[in-house]
Amino acid sequence: MKLITFIWFIAILETTALASLNGSVRFEGFKVYRIETGDYAADLSSTFEDLAVVELSRNHGHGSLATIDIAVPPEYVAAFDTLDLNVTILSKDLGADIATEGPLGSYPELDDHGLPSLSWFDSYHAYGDHVRYWADLQAAFVNNSELIQVGSSFEGRAIQGIHLWGISGKNSKPAVIFNGNVHAREWITSIVVEYLLYQLVTGYKNDTTVQAALDNYDFYVLPVVNPDGFVYSQTTNRLWRKNRQTRDNTTAVGTDINRNWSVGFGGGGSSSNPGSETFSGYRPGDAPETAALMEFAQTLATDKGIKLYIDWHSYAQVILLSYGYTCDSFPPNIDRQISLASETAARIAQPYNTTFEYGPGCLVLYQSSGNGRDYMTDAAGAEFGWGIELRSTSYGFVLPANQILPSSIEIWEGMKYLWTNM
Ligand SMILES: [Zn+2]
Repeated sequence: MKLITFIWFIAILETTALASLNGSVRFEGFKVYRIETGDYAADLSSTFEDLAVVELSRNHGHGSLATIDIAVPPEYVAAFDTLDLNVTILSKDLGADIATEGPLGSYPELDDHGLPSLSWFDSYHAYGDHVRYWADLQAAFVNNSELIQVGSSFEGRAIQGIHLWGISGKNSKPAVIFNGNVHAREWITSIVVEYLLYQLVTGYKNDTTVQAALDNYDFYVLPVVNPDGFVYSQTTNRLWRKNRQTRDNTTAVGTDINRNWSVGFGGGGSSSNPGSETFSGYRPGDAPETAALMEFAQTLATDKGIKLYIDWHSYAQVILLSYGYTCDSFPPNIDRQISLASETAARIAQPYNTTFEYGPGCLVLYQSSGNGRDYMTDAAGAEFGWGIELRSTSYGFVLPANQILPSSIEIWEGMKYLWTNM
């Protein structure tokens, strides 16, 4: 590994703004590489800080198996190829991938019960249509649900979702909380969470597994907790990750909402640099989205308690348990968590043989401090504070729309097992 050369190469990229056309960031000709970083992973991780290279994943794996995925602009592909790095080419043209992801879909027909048809899951959708979708689902399940708003984003959008309950009425059972699209570019997460919602709403009448789930737990489902970033990823930069928060004394935009929680704040796998993709903010909860989610979690924690939290991400195909901020300690119930995650992964694999790893996030993926699942575990008393990274390790964030239903179906299998057995 020619580390010095690599740092030089990245330094060049830093000076290069992404090509911009009509206000929209273009990725035509960007080549996507998986780099085998091996034992240099930690060095490269710090090298990536503050850099304009499009960083798609960080330090996935450990030791000689560690890899990082990056996208290289066309003007630097030749220079990159002369470096002595062990790489796999994941895509020859990221712009072409984005084109084949398909246009945002139109709003589907409603059936006799006012439910949008399953064609919703044949394409990705504009943010405004997502908001309408939640309202339509809720209206079709009016006696067992309500729309909720837990706060507002930096740009003033409502952070909203649906609260669902079963036979005992609302606010009577421990909470299950789902957060989708914390990271803006992870589009598959919100629509898979909506598939889970759809199954809950339509299954309560006759599916005993769904009945048991809603009778045993109050579900709080927030499909898009980073609405500003999500909108920006649809209008301007498909690969945007953070929120859209501006700060004094910097032109850099965006705080990583999943590094801004108070537990482990500021530790390894987060950055104090506003230009970093993992910028933690300056203080815990100084991103309005995180502040709202922490306050919401505290309310539920002191009410009926939190049974399960899942923060939905893509694309590592892994079930992440606490902790992310440290590799050296574990929640007291870690053995139980690992056994549940193991069988959940086995159920996810049943429909299509999709492999999901599982384990404490710091060990199985990488260190990440100030994340939501650690907060839920340590500060909100959640029995299971989890993150799940959806498919796909081969496609990355830009997943063709025909993968939405398979991804949803496999996760539904895992969730039915988890809710029944947790
Ligand atoms: Zn993510």
